[in-house]
Amino acid sequence: MEVKIIPCLSDNYSYLVFDKDKKIACVIDPSEARPVIEAVNKLDLDLRYILNTHHHYDHVGGNKKLKEEFDAKIIGYKEDQSRIPEIDILVEDGQIWSNDNFEIKIFHVPGHTSGHICYYLEKNRIIFTGDTLFSLGCGRVFEGTNEQMFNSLKIIKNLPPETEVYCGHEYTLQNSKFCIEHDANNLKLKKKIKIIKEKVQKGHPTVPSKIQDEIECNIFLKAVSLDVFSNLRDLKDNF
Ligand code: ZN
Ligand code: FE
Repeated sequence: MEVKIIPCLSDNYSYLVFDKDKKIACVIDPSEARPVIEAVNKLDLDLRYILNTHHHYDHVGGNKKLKEEFDAKIIGYKEDQSRIPEIDILVEDGQIWSNDNFEIKIFHVPGHTSGHICYYLEKNRIIFTGDTLFSLGCGRVFEGTNEQMFNSLKIIKNLPPETEVYCGHEYTLQNSKFCIEHDANNLKLKKKIKIIKEKVQKGHPTVPSKIQDEIECNIFLKAVSLDVFSNLRDLKDNF
């Protein structure tokens, strides 16, 4: 399975997932339609599915147009049926959604929004984390509680360490500044920051990250208790 990173809006990422031979594709979180249409056509793909991690406009903005253009089906969390534009297929926690050559496990990870889900391609060791886990950060807690977010991150943290993490935004460099302030002696983090800076300077994405890297470097995943996590989340909101 291949993943094509598509920068959208100012700092969003949408992702095309496809099989090189069969050319059947799905897109994760199309913020806008235009760059996705361009990529689909350039790669000569058949876009069949649109997968949304949550209902925020910067993750579903391209739904309607892409559905019209490619006659694709839209997939989202069952309890967000009324908030995800043009939704066709409802999924729930723990379900494995499979169609064509895709086999994707759904994790319900409330916190950022009450209906946020992650898409996990177990066979390929790839997870799309939307605005729940970022590289070196996590999403703001808008609709849920800190406890929900803490538990949601725990689910992601327990995936195999080699799992590649594709998140919803390019926030990594900014996130790294907060991490290093609270974890100044972390050599792994320092090494990762050096690599991140090189990528950013070249205009390259810092995604994907790896679960292992996040466990070692992401201050929110290193939080040992809900209290520690909540304190960090509050500090980050005003950072
Ligand atoms: Zn969001
Ligand atoms: Fe977002």
